[in-house]
Amino acid sequence: MPKLFAPDCDLREEIITLNGANAEHLHVLRVRLGEVIMVADGSGTDARCIVESAQKDSFCLRVMERMPSAGEASVSTTIYAAIPKGDKAEMIVQKSVELGADRIAFFLSSRCISRPDDRAAANKTERLQKVAEAAAVQCGRGRIPQVLWFPKYQAMLADASGAELAAFLWEGENRLSLKALLRSRESFHTAALITGPEGGFSAEEAEQAKNAGIPSVSLGTRILRCETAPVCALTALMYETGNLE
Ligand code: SAH
Repeated sequence: MPKLFAPDCDLREEIITLNGANAEHLHVLRVRLGEVIMVADGSGTDARCIVESAQKDSFCLRVMERMPSAGEASVSTTIYAAIPKGDKAEMIVQKSVELGADRIAFFLSSRCISRPDDRAAANKTERLQKVAEAAAVQCGRGRIPQVLWFPKYQAMLADASGAELAAFLWEGENRLSLKALLRSRESFHTAALITGPEGGFSAEEAEQAKNAGIPSVSLGTRILRCETAPVCALTALMYETGNLE
């Protein structure tokens, strides 16, 4: 069953109209009169709708049932990934959206090879936001995760430290595991997972995270690639919090 995002629609109405890109998308999917589709308002409500009429650039749907958005996790998680080279950022965004992250934030750290200026970062963030939207539609999310950019390492730490559970994924950590940290907490509703670039984090950066109240944790003895680590950590967190069942 197709699922579309229509943030401008008020799903409390009996009849809603989809036009523009959504109408185009329904034509591409060859959706016909009487067909059932899901519409998400992007703020946590889904509606099961029936197509009542179809024009060239608009569809009228009757709202049959409203429900809390499926596809949303019980923990609001932000992935903070040091900006990687090439198109690895696209993969981090796509997989994080599929796995239920609410925000994906990129930042600059000392060993980043890719060092975009503000203008390039804004363009990249805009492109990555489109990747997030496409992934959210594909996997049936109830909301479209937000892609963010932090040019300053300290600003990123300040934002991440506001989460009830924050973890600094560090290849230099050999005592505390992510598993132990996750199991040490009764319950939490917001989480922050921070991972480094291809060159990893410096000991100073780990110290700065610790000073911000964010513990370093290990993902085991193997060194994961910068595009693997965020996906691995997010999967572990979603599994431990019952969001992969
Ligand atoms: N410089 C490293 C590679 C860094 S991997 C090397 O080649 O030796 C990129 C990021 O993934 C790291 O900064 C860290 O955030 C995360 N990461 C990779 N493996 C990890 C592990 N075993 N434990 C914790 N974090 C890890």
